[in-house]
Amino acid sequence: MLDIKMQLSTTPKEKPDQTKLGFGIYYTDNMFVMDYTEGKGWHDARIVPYAPISLDPAAMVFHYAQESFEGLKAYRTPDGSIQLFRANKNAERMQNTNKRMCIPALPVDDFVQACKTLVEVEKDWVPSQEGTSLYLRPFVIATEPHLGVRPSSTYSFIIIASPVGAYYESGLNPVKIFVEDEYVRATPGGTGFTKCGGNYAGSLASQVKAHDLGYEQVLWLDGVEHKYVEEVGSMNCFFKIDGVVYTAPCVGTVLPGVTRMSCIELLEKWGYKVCTDRLPIADVVKASKEGKLEEVFGTGTAAVISPVGELRYEDDVCVINNNKIGEVTQRLYDEITSIQWGKKEDHMGWTIKVC
Ligand SMILES: *Cc1c(COP(=O)(O)O)cnc(C)c1O
Repeated sequence: MLDIKMQLSTTPKEKPDQTKLGFGIYYTDNMFVMDYTEGKGWHDARIVPYAPISLDPAAMVFHYAQESFEGLKAYRTPDGSIQLFRANKNAERMQNTNKRMCIPALPVDDFVQACKTLVEVEKDWVPSQEGTSLYLRPFVIATEPHLGVRPSSTYSFIIIASPVGAYYESGLNPVKIFVEDEYVRATPGGTGFTKCGGNYAGSLASQVKAHDLGYEQVLWLDGVEHKYVEEVGSMNCFFKIDGVVYTAPCVGTVLPGVTRMSCIELLEKWGYKVCTDRLPIADVVKASKEGKLEEVFGTGTAAVISPVGELRYEDDVCVINNNKIGEVTQRLYDEITSIQWGKKEDHMGWTIKVC
C-alpha cells in the first residue's frame, strides 16, 4: 500500500458545463505524483494541486522520449457511486510498456490505488450527464537531466484527470477510414504493443494525410508486407465477415486494448466465432465486393465502440452496412457501456468500485 500524502488545492476551479465537456479540455483541481530514484525506488506518493511541472531542459524525456502512458475512465453510476473499468488491465499494460521502455516497474496494486485515490479526491468532478466520465491519464516520464542515450536514473509517475463528454454528441455515427499503404506504425521487434508517446508522434503524418483526403482515421497495415490489417489510430479494429468476427492478433505490433479484450470475451460468451489470425486487407476488400463484409468497428476507451461506415484502400472504396451501425457493433456498445456506467449488473467482474 502506498502512503499517499494529501497536499490538496485550496482554490477549487469552477466546474465546466457538463453538456460541453469535449475531450481532454478541462482538468481537475489536483493530480497524483510519485517519484523514482535509482537505489531508492518509487517514493513520495502525493496528491498536489494540478499545476505546470518544472523540469530541467535536459530532462531525458524531451530528447529521447523515454515515457509511457495509459488511458482509463471513472464512471458515475445511477446510484451516484463511482467505478473504474478493468484498471488492473491498464496497470498490467503499463508494466509491459515500462519494461520495453527500460522504465522501472510500477506495482499493479499501487497503480490501481493511485487511480482510485485521485478519483475519490476529485469525486465532485466525475460528471453524471449521459455518456460523460472522468478520463484518467497516468504517465511516466524520464526526468534526469542528461544528454547521453541511456535509461534515466529518475522518473515521475503522474496521473491527471479530465472530465470528458459523450464521445458521440450526435449518436453513434459511422466513421470513414483511410487504409494507409505508405507509412507504417509498428514493426516486429519494435514498440507497437506499448503505449509510448513516440508511437503517436510517428503516426501524425499519416493522420494529417487522411484528414486532407476527407477521412477521419487511419487503418494501419503490418509494417513488413503492408498486407495485413492491424489497427485504427488509437483503436483496435474488428471485421465481421460472413458471420465470423476477425481482429488482428496482439503479437508485438498491435496495442492490446482493454476494450478489444472485453469485446472478444463478450463475443465468445455470446457464441460468435472470433478469429485472431492475421487478416489480409485484400480479403476485406474481396468480402466487401461479394457483399460479405457485414460490420467493421474500432474499439478503445475514449469512444468505446466506433462503427466504421467506409473504408478506402488504394482505389477501392468499401461502404459497410449502408453506412449504418451493425447489429453486433450496437450490441457490444450497449453491453459494455451498461457495465461501465453501472446500468446493468457486472456479471463479468470488470468494475472496481471507488466510492
Ligand atoms: C489505447 C490504444 C488502443 C485502445 O486500447 P484501450 O485499452 O481499449 O483503450 C488501441 N490502439 C492504440 C494504438 C492505442 O493507443
